Amino acid sequence: MATTALDLAKVRNIGIMAHIDAGKTTTTERILFYTGVNYKIGEVHEGAATMDWMEQEQERGITITSAATTCHWSLEGVENTINIIDTPGHVDFTVEVERSLRVLDGAVTVFDGVAGVEPQSETVWRQADRYGVPRICFVNKLDRTGAEFFRCVDMIVDRLGATPLVMQVPIGAEMDFQGVVDLVRMKALVWSAEAAKGEMYDVVDIPATHTEIAQTWREKLVETISEHDEEMMELFLEGTEPTEEQLYAAIRRATIASTSEEKAGEATFTPVFCGTAFKNKGVQPLLDAVVRYLPSPLDREVITGHKVGDESVVVERKPADSEPFAGLAFKIMSDPHLGKLTFVRVYSGRMESGSAVLNSVKGKKERIGKIYRMHANKREEIPSVGAGDIVAVMGLKDTTTGETLSDSSNPVILESMTFPAPVIQVA
Ligand code: GDP
Repeated sequence: MATTALDLAKVRNIGIMAHIDAGKTTTTERILFYTGVNYKIGEVHEGAATMDWMEQEQERGITITSAATTCHWSLEGVENTINIIDTPGHVDFTVEVERSLRVLDGAVTVFDGVAGVEPQSETVWRQADRYGVPRICFVNKLDRTGAEFFRCVDMIVDRLGATPLVMQVPIGAEMDFQGVVDLVRMKALVWSAEAAKGEMYDVVDIPATHTEIAQTWREKLVETISEHDEEMMELFLEGTEPTEEQLYAAIRRATIASTSEEKAGEATFTPVFCGTAFKNKGVQPLLDAVVRYLPSPLDREVITGHKVGDESVVVERKPADSEPFAGLAFKIMSDPHLGKLTFVRVYSGRMESGSAVLNSVKGKKERIGKIYRMHANKREEIPSVGAGDIVAVMGLKDTTTGETLSDSSNPVILESMTFPAPVIQVA
């Protein structure tokens, strides 16, 4: 077991939020399927391994059973780690939703292309605004009768008060939904029959039928971004078309900055994608977007907490391994094989298996047992974990959800939550 420090710039801690039935489960399963096909822990990616995985997938489906699942996605040859934190979507679990929002850095909001923005999407959207979570949107189920992408875009404006950045224009509708125009690359992404078997889409020229609508929405995208981004405004005034890289960077800046504290009360910029998770169309570009536009733990420059015993004294930590350890326990689960597991997000420093840490809320010492990274189809034991990462820990006896674990010589209580954290009974 090698201890390798993660490159934090390549980590995304995300949640997937949706109104019930919009397709959160299906989208998540697709994500795990594609990331599983493309990545195998400790194995060279070969046809046989892929086949095993696919057979397994076909047999029983890939389901999220863990509070945080780690997967990997390569974008332009660079591998990224994506931790998917399970975000309950039901109104009854608002407290749980808030707790999970606390530990993620960004989110994907899934909408039903027929129903559009539904009441629970609104509730979770407002919670995410409150916690300053940058978001991208996925308008799902475009294959369904009555699905209408642009109606959903209008609802994002009207119901959520957000500024949608339309990133794609669908090609074909309902049964005939074939692909999308990518408005940054100005290319069509078309899913062939092979796509259903895990292949990527084909990148082709925009069909003549869609050049006009693509041009219109591309101009709108560049204009919206330019109004809020100085670098883009300069290019706009010069009459220079931005490059793909410049657009990617500007969209990322707008998405992240619009949820910051300074921008509270202003519209959230949210890149909007579309497709159908059901038929595997659109999930791969969505994964690219997670890496491109959602923040890494480094985008949060400081993490604030307070001194133990004095809430008025603010303590700041940086998301770096060199800082004293501080982490938040956000979920306790009972694993059929391992028993009680505590899911922890490490905010600063490193947490080592076997070490003693302080539960700074209760003032009790805790011993860190085995540390696991939970994947969709296996768990991986690791000796230690660094800042920005999310893992499952064995051996914690007294820690409940919402409590801070910290270095005993540098104790801190991370931002307290405004609701009482219920004790979850473990069978
Ligand atoms: P969740 O409640 O948000 O997790 O929704 P699910 O992922 O369980 O999906 C709800 C239902 O919609 C299920 O019957 C899915 O098979 C179906 N579904 C999900 N995505 C799509 C899609 O893209 N197209 C169609 N036609 N059905 C979908």
